[in-house]
Amino acid sequence: MARTQEACLVCGQPLEYFETEREMVCAFCKKTFPSRASCREGHYICDTCHAQQGVAAILDYCQGSTSQNPITMAQEMMDNPLIYMHGPEHHILVGAALLAACRNAGMELDLDAALNEMKARGGAYPGGSCGFWGACGAAVSAGMALSIATGATPLTGQSWAWANGVTAACLQEISALGGPRCCKRNSFTALRTAAGFLREHLGVELELPEQTVCRWLAENKECIGGACPYNPANQR
Ligand SMILES: [Zn+2]
Ligand SMILES: [Zn+2]
Repeated sequence: MARTQEACLVCGQPLEYFETEREMVCAFCKKTFPSRASCREGHYICDTCHAQQGVAAILDYCQGSTSQNPITMAQEMMDNPLIYMHGPEHHILVGAALLAACRNAGMELDLDAALNEMKARGGAYPGGSCGFWGACGAAVSAGMALSIATGATPLTGQSWAWANGVTAACLQEISALGGPRCCKRNSFTALRTAAGFLREHLGVELELPEQTVCRWLAENKECIGGACPYNPANQR
């Protein structure tokens, strides 16, 4: 089945858009919001519930995964229609994939506790920070993951250096590709860079696919196209 972001999360019917806003009751929290969209059956899900469901899907997936490959993990999570093309859920998704892959690769880690901490920290990092704060949330998510995995605090030594170091390495690579932002491109770049950092500095060997191929180009109005290393056209 073709993947679509435009299907109802309750019943799978296509979404319809109205010319003017209507009062809609959220199918999950039952609160009323003005909205321009619902499915043909009249289902509507508010932004807060949509985001919460997306985060729950990330944690569920990572708790159940045995993979050591954070790129394939991220891509499988991105296939879930609860995960938007762009959005702050990627600030949790990147770090959660890294934490689960590290645990699956043999790192000693209380994964449930680590994922809950990732949800709290990643969930506090605002959308749009790449452009407004100069620090993409996918990179910071990798820093959060290393901080959580190694117990960094503002007062630690080596772990403090690792947490900041991996964020810096990810930002360097993300910056080198240029904007506009793409949460898929930035997530893939952060994951590949973080995997290299983990190997080099912590001796943790994660798996990576030989090529990282993006399946979301058509959904991204601001895709940089041929300049993106994950564009299928750039793969041999
Ligand atoms: Zn529906
Ligand atoms: Zn709701």
